[in-house]
Amino acid sequence: MKTLFTEKQISSRIKQIAKQINVDYKNKELVLVCILKGSLIFFSDLLKQITLPVSFECIKASSYKGCKSEGVVIFCNQELSFINGKHLLIVDDIIDTGLTLDSLVKNISSVYSPLSIKTCVLFSKKIKRDIQADYKAFDIENEFVVGYGLDYNERYRNLPCIKIYNQEHNVTR
Ligand code: 5GP
Ligand code: MG
Repeated sequence: MKTLFTEKQISSRIKQIAKQINVDYKNKELVLVCILKGSLIFFSDLLKQITLPVSFECIKASSYKGCKSEGVVIFCNQELSFINGKHLLIVDDIIDTGLTLDSLVKNISSVYSPLSIKTCVLFSKKIKRDIQADYKAFDIENEFVVGYGLDYNERYRNLPCIKIYNQEHNVTR
C-alpha cells in the first residue's frame, strides 16, 4: 500500500494545529471529545501538544462498515453534562460525508448547553458536503485511507503512518 503521510509529516502538522487551538481557547474552559476508535491516536498526539488546562471524554461513533458509509450514525449516548457552560471541541479522524460530525453536533447541542461546539479532524475528504471541520490537518482525495488509528475492518490501526488502502490487501478475499 502507498504511504500518503509519514509519521513525521503528521506530527509536525499536529503541532501547528495544537498551536492554533492553544491561541483560540486561551482563557476559555475547553473540553475535548475523542471519537473512538479512529481518532484515538490522533487525539492523544494532539492532546499532548495542548498546553491549556483541558479535560476530555471519549465517545464511540461510526457510520462506516468496510470501505463504505452506511448512512446511519451509531453512537453511545454517554453522560456529558460536564460540558455544560464549557467550550467543546469534537475530534474525529476523518470528515467524509459529514454525517457523523453533523449528527454528533446536532445531538449534543439538543441535549447539552456547551458555550460553543467546534470540530477538529485529521483528514477532510475533498467531496461536496454542507458541514466543514473547523480545524483540519490535511485535505485528501476521495480515497480510503488506513493507519494511525484508522482501520479497514479493524485492521491497520497500528500502522504509524497513513496509507491508501488497496483492495489487493484485503485479507478476506
Ligand atoms: P462520515 O460520517 O463523515 O461520512 O464519515 C466519517 C467516519 O467514517 C470517520 O469517522 C471514519 O471512521 C470513517 N471513514 C471515512 N472515510 C474513511 C477512510 O478513508 N478510512 C477509514 N479507515 N475510515 C473512514
Ligand atoms: Mg470514525
